[in-house]
Amino acid sequence: MKTKMLLGLLSVIFVTIFTIGCSSRQASVESPDCSFSQDDGIFLYPTGEFQVFMMVESMREGNTGILVGADEELLSRYIPETGFQHTANAYFVKTPDHNILIDTGTGIDGIIADKIKKIGLEPEEIDTVLITHLHRDHFGGLVRDGATLFPNATVYLSYNEHEYFTEIQVNQDAVATLALYEGKIELFNPAQIDSVLEEILPGIKPIANYGHTPGHTVFLIEDNDEKLIIAGDFLHLALVQFAMPEISVTFDVDKEEAAAARRQLMNYAAQNNIPLGGMHIVYPGIVTVEAEGNGFKYTPLN
Ligand SMILES: [Zn+2]
Repeated sequence: MKTKMLLGLLSVIFVTIFTIGCSSRQASVESPDCSFSQDDGIFLYPTGEFQVFMMVESMREGNTGILVGADEELLSRYIPETGFQHTANAYFVKTPDHNILIDTGTGIDGIIADKIKKIGLEPEEIDTVLITHLHRDHFGGLVRDGATLFPNATVYLSYNEHEYFTEIQVNQDAVATLALYEGKIELFNPAQIDSVLEEILPGIKPIANYGHTPGHTVFLIEDNDEKLIIAGDFLHLALVQFAMPEISVTFDVDKEEAAAARRQLMNYAAQNNIPLGGMHIVYPGIVTVEAEGNGFKYTPLN
């Protein structure tokens, strides 16, 4: 009997030490380790058995000057007079097989690394980094003090993105960063959204969303029939661009292509009832989408 109790106690200790104790929404409420709030800048969204954590790196006053071709009168419908916030996020996905970071933030003050620690992992435990595109606010956090912040990670990005920023419109910063991960870069070809999607890792399917950059990729996360798309920079100003997907931003490399990709992704999310996470969608950083008028309406998760 005593042995049984001891075994029971040991298994409790084992489970406490070796899992992040938030395997379901219910557990996240009960476990202090997993009850994150807006003050923490972390939002947990379980997807099947996967745990997806949205992590805010920075928040600042937003600016409509980034929008291209937005009519002032139309804008006033969507932008509150009191202004709005612009965010930069990264996402961490814990699966039974992998610790996956999707984008890294810019690398400001080790903020994302600290959030990973708060969730219960060390940066060394990240084995996979998925990069949506090679703009600094998405890959800059791969490096800290000139060294790899995720020394045990393989970095995945699309062929098109790699080619564009290392050979065509060369971004020296991206080239230098990727060189630190030499031998651990995996290039892939994301599928078109209306074709059969292929996994690059269990439960992770990349989808082409070209336009913002020539290889911009979004990732479908899928486990036990639950789905979520981490959608990178498919938009920058949710207040306006869900309602008017045709409005692009100054940093969209191909503005028309970006607008078409944005509408197509929103349509897919609305039709298939899949929530969207975005690197510039304010806390909680994940929304549901439905068609409305000529555009879409979004509702933040809670
Ligand atoms: Zn960005």
